[in-house]
Amino acid sequence: MVDYINKIDKYLKKLFPLTRSITGNGNRETLRYLKEIVPLEIKELKSGTDVYDWKIPREWNVENAWIKDKNGNVLIDFMESNLHLVSYSEPINKILKLSELKNHLHKHKTIPEAIPYRTSYYKQDWGFCVTHDQYDEICNRDPDEKFHVLIDSEFNENGSLSLGELIIPGKSKKEFLISTYICHPSMANDNLSGTIMTAFMAKELLNESNLFYTYRIIWVPETIGAIAYSFFNEKNIKAINHGLEVTTVGGRGSIGYKQSFDSSDILNLIIEEVLKNENIDYIKYPFDIHGSDERQFSSIGFRINMPLITKDKYYEYDYYHSSLDDLNYVSGKDINKTLNLYLKTIKTFEKESLYVNKLNFCEAMLSKYDLYPKLGAAQLPSKKVSSDKDIILWLLHLCDGKYSISQISKKIGVSKI
Ligand code: ZN
Repeated sequence: MVDYINKIDKYLKKLFPLTRSITGNGNRETLRYLKEIVPLEIKELKSGTDVYDWKIPREWNVENAWIKDKNGNVLIDFMESNLHLVSYSEPINKILKLSELKNHLHKHKTIPEAIPYRTSYYKQDWGFCVTHDQYDEICNRDPDEKFHVLIDSEFNENGSLSLGELIIPGKSKKEFLISTYICHPSMANDNLSGTIMTAFMAKELLNESNLFYTYRIIWVPETIGAIAYSFFNEKNIKAINHGLEVTTVGGRGSIGYKQSFDSSDILNLIIEEVLKNENIDYIKYPFDIHGSDERQFSSIGFRINMPLITKDKYYEYDYYHSSLDDLNYVSGKDINKTLNLYLKTIKTFEKESLYVNKLNFCEAMLSKYDLYPKLGAAQLPSKKVSSDKDIILWLLHLCDGKYSISQISKKIGVSKI
C-alpha cells in the first residue's frame, strides 16, 4: 500500500482555488504544480487548429467578475468562488435591468445553498451561478432596479490549449494509456481528485524499474483536450489496446467501476478481481457512451478498452457539479485508497501475458513446424481439449492480443503451467 495521504491533502489545498477551464492560465498553473510531483511535459496546442470534427478554442482568461446593485454593493463576487461565473463567459461591463440580468442567472435544481457549475464553451454567452438566497436577493427587488454587471474576461485567438504529458518507458514499446482531465475549476472530486491522483500514480510507476508496458500519461481538458491530443498523436493512440481513465476518485461514497466497451476484456476482469480481493462492496457501471474521455478513446478509430475506478462516480453523487464538491467532501485518505486500487490493477495487468499469433490469416501449417500428427485423418476431435494438438490449435485461435494466457487457460479448461 502506498501512502501519499498528507501530500495529496497538501496539493488539494494548493490547487483547489485555481480557475481552470478548457484553456487558460489556471490550467498551466495546475500543470506547473503537478511538475513538482512528476516531470511531466507541458504542451501547448494552438487555438484555431482543426482537430477531427472540432477546433481548438480560443484561450480564455478572467481577471474578475461581479454583480453590483445601484448602491455599489457587491451581490455576487467571482473572488469568493470561481463557480459564480459561467466558465468561458464573454466579457461584459454594462448596466442592466433585472429582466435582462435574470436570464443569465443559474441556480442549483435541488440544493439551495449550492452554487451550480455551468459552462458555455461552444455558445458565446455569459452568466452567473448563484445560491437560491442570492437568486432571491436579486430577483425579489424592484423590477425597475438596475444592476452593474462586470465580467473582465478575454479570449485570445493566438492562445493555446495546455496539456501535460509523461511517457514512462517500459521493456515493451506497447503502450498503456492513462488519462485524466484538468478543466474543472474549484471542485474537489470532479476532478481535482483525479488530476492529483494521476500525478502520484505516475510517481509510483516512475519508481518501478521493471515495467513491461510503456505508460503514456496525460492531463488534458476534458473532451476537446482528449480529441486534440488524439489528433496529434493518432498513430500512438491507435496502437493502444488498454488504458485507464481517472475521474472522481476521492468522494466519501462508494467505490465503483465503469466497464470498458468490451465487458469481457481482461482489464475489466482484473479490476473485478482486485476489488474482490480487497473485499470492497463496489458498484458496477456498464459501459455507456456518456462519461468522460473514455468516450473519445473508445471511439471507432481507437477502440481502447478504458475502464475507470471511482469513488463517488460523476453523475451519481448529490454534490456533483456544485460548490459543495469541496475540500470538506474530498480527502487525501479517500484519494489514496483509490490510488492503491489503480496501482493494484496495473500491477496485475503487467503480469498478464497478451500474445499475438502473427499468422493471423487462416491456420498455421502445423506439420511445417512438426506440430501435427504424422498420419492425417486418423483422429476424430474430442469434445474436451485434451491433446497437445488441441491446446496448440486453441492457443493459436485465441492469441489475438486481447485474451490473456490466464483467460485462455480458463476458457479451454487447461491449467497454466
Ligand atoms: Zn464534470
